[in-house]
Amino acid sequence: MERNEKYILIALGGNAFQTKGEPGTTENYWKNAYRAANTIVRIVKEGYKVAITHGNGPQVGTILEWMERSKDRIPPLAMDIAGAMTQGWLGYLLMQAIDNTLVKEGIRDSVKGAVAIVNQVLVSKDDPAWQNPTKYVGSYYTKEEAERLAKEKGWIIKPDPRGGYRRVVPSPDPKENIEVGAVKKLIEEGWIVIASGGGGIPVIRNEDGTLQGVEAVIDKDLAGEVLATALGVGTFVILTDVDGAYINYGKPDQKKLDVVTVSELEKYYKEGHFKPGSMGPKVLAAIRFIKHGGRKAMIGHLQKGYEVIKGESGTIVVPD
Ligand code: ADP
Ligand code: MG
Repeated sequence: MERNEKYILIALGGNAFQTKGEPGTTENYWKNAYRAANTIVRIVKEGYKVAITHGNGPQVGTILEWMERSKDRIPPLAMDIAGAMTQGWLGYLLMQAIDNTLVKEGIRDSVKGAVAIVNQVLVSKDDPAWQNPTKYVGSYYTKEEAERLAKEKGWIIKPDPRGGYRRVVPSPDPKENIEVGAVKKLIEEGWIVIASGGGGIPVIRNEDGTLQGVEAVIDKDLAGEVLATALGVGTFVILTDVDGAYINYGKPDQKKLDVVTVSELEKYYKEGHFKPGSMGPKVLAAIRFIKHGGRKAMIGHLQKGYEVIKGESGTIVVPD
């Protein structure tokens, strides 16, 4: 597939908006959005056309808890709707923070601006994930409450390793970004586009061709790869709270991977060096991106986003 070296897709981790241990106040959300916007605008200044995706784990958790606590007065809404809410919430913050940063830098006229889109991502009805829900979402319950909810709502509830009982939902593999054509047009026209937020709103396609939202969550890094590949970006950058992908992570002989070929990384992946649900999907997304024809995939620290893109920090994955 054709690749555009000047197109870049940046995936921002959950910590881009809510730093661990910091309360999720409006002020903190803005502070963090401006920090991310600064990195993005530095990259735009280098002449790149930028698409952005972001996680939504803490925010979707917050919405589910709001709904849980007010359920006697306001009927709780479905999870796909909660996902859509987070795309609007975080998309708005980034959109305005980027736009204002462009104004401050005096380059608001050289780009169209930033725009966030509400975005659906197709998953398969036959995905094995439906048989094995793994992703913890929403409030923590006692065993009794959990049993009642399981019966009332048909939820699957499991004990959470962090304590208490929680709902688990499947995390199916993303197949297609439904609105990718619109994202592409916007980027070509010079917009900085925020898309596929939270991995996208998961939808399935019915026999008659219609779409329908489902109760699941999609990994944002894997959905980011689907978008990056469909857009034909040359570079896919995953920014998180660690400075790269490590082998033997957390052990005395841990070692950060600097430049690694896709085959070598795949070998480490199969050996189980990267935790499922955190570094695992990032590494898998990077592998898929290169195998699908991408030039460079990077994994690095959000605070060093600019250096990561310059190749001065983080892990760089390249073709063999
Ligand atoms: P994000 O919100 O950015 O998606 P995650 O928590 O999902 O962040 O993933 C980043 C985390 O992955 C790091 O904080 C780190 O503790 C963990 N991790 C697990 N295995 C590894 C590894 N092999 N190398 C580096 N980090 C790892
Ligand atoms: Mg993650």
